[in-house]
Amino acid sequence: MTTTVRNPLQPASDIMHGEKGERPKIMIIYTGGTIGMIENPVTRTLEPFNFDHLLENVPKLRLLDIDIESVEFEHPIDSSSMNPDHWKDIAKAIEENYNKCDGFVVLHGTDTMAYTASALSYMLENLDKPVIITGSQLPIGDVRTDGEENLITALQVASARDRQGNMVVREVAILFEDFLWRGNRSTKHSSDNFCAFSSNNYPALASIGLGIHFNQDVLLKHPVGGELKVHYDMDTNVMFIDLFPGIQENVVRHLFNTPGIRGIIIKTFGAGNGPNDPWFIQAISEAISKGIVVVNISQCVNGSVQPELYSAGIEISKTGVISGKDMTSEAAITKLMYLFGRQLPIEEVKKQMGESLCGELTESSAPY
Ligand code: ASP
Repeated sequence: MTTTVRNPLQPASDIMHGEKGERPKIMIIYTGGTIGMIENPVTRTLEPFNFDHLLENVPKLRLLDIDIESVEFEHPIDSSSMNPDHWKDIAKAIEENYNKCDGFVVLHGTDTMAYTASALSYMLENLDKPVIITGSQLPIGDVRTDGEENLITALQVASARDRQGNMVVREVAILFEDFLWRGNRSTKHSSDNFCAFSSNNYPALASIGLGIHFNQDVLLKHPVGGELKVHYDMDTNVMFIDLFPGIQENVVRHLFNTPGIRGIIIKTFGAGNGPNDPWFIQAISEAISKGIVVVNISQCVNGSVQPELYSAGIEISKTGVISGKDMTSEAAITKLMYLFGRQLPIEEVKKQMGESLCGELTESSAPY
C-alpha cells in the first residue's frame, strides 16, 4: 500500500504533519559532512563549518510547519573520521530528547552514513519514532547544492504521521535525493551522483517526487509499547577479509591471527563461494575453533549468500561459518560490534548474526 504526501506543504488525506493541529517537533543533530562544509579560501579544500552557517543558508526552513530544535557536535567532522564514540553521542542526543521530540534528522557526511545508520538501528532498541539521516554531495552554500532539498525533505519525512497519529516512519532511515531507504540496507554507491545511495536487497521505504510516496508495506512495524532502550557499547574487535583470486595463505592466516579479534566478516564471491584450497578451509576452521565468529557475506551488492549452491560454498559453510544472508557489509560489521558489545555468549552472537533484528537481512521464511 502506498500513501502519499502530494504537495508536502498541503498533506494528502491519509498523512498529516502533527496531531490535532500541533506542530511536530523535530530535532536536528548536526555531525558534520559536506552538507555543512565551506571552502577554505587558502587551501581551497572543504572543511566543516559551524551550524549557524547551515541554517542561515536555508531560510526556507521557516516556511515549514515544524518546530525545529538542533544540537551539534562540538567539533563537526568529515564522516570518514566517524567512530563508535560518535555513534554514542548521536544515540545519547536521541535518548535525552526522545520524549519531547516527534522525530530526529541527523545531518551526516555521506562517506560513512550507511555504517552510522546500521549501527544506530541496532543501538536504538524499540525505536518508535523516525531517525532520518541525510547529508549532501555539495555544500549547502553551493548554488547547485542538493543539501537544501535533502534537509527539507528529511524534515518532512520525519514529521509525517498517519491518521491514527502514529509516526509513519518508526525506524532509522537514509533520505537521499529521490528515495528513503532503510538505514541498515543502504550503501553509498556513488561519490558523484546526487542519487548517491541504494538499497540493493530491499525496496525503497518512500520515493520522492512531487509528493512523498511512502511504501507502507515495507516500513518496519514494531509492536508498540516497548520503551526505547539504548545500547551504547560497541566492540570494535572485528574486521573484514575481502577475498580475491590469488589471495595468499600467509596473508589469510596473519589476518585470522590478529590479536584480540573476535569477529571476522569474509566477503566471498558470488553466492558465498571461496577457494577450495585445503589451507583456506583449515584456516577458517582453526579460527572458529579458537572462538572467533566468522560470517560469510557476498561481494555482490544484490542477492544473498546461498552456500548450498556450489561445492565451493558448501566447503566453507561446513566449517561453521555463519551465513550473513543478504546483509550489506555495513550492516554486518556493525551488527558484530553491537552483539559483542552486549557481552552475549558466543553461541547467541552466532544465532543473532543469522536472524533479522531490525530488518537488516531477509530471513528465508519472511521476505521483509
Ligand atoms: N567526506 C564527506 C563526509 O563523509 C563526504 C560527504 O559528506 O558527502 O563527511
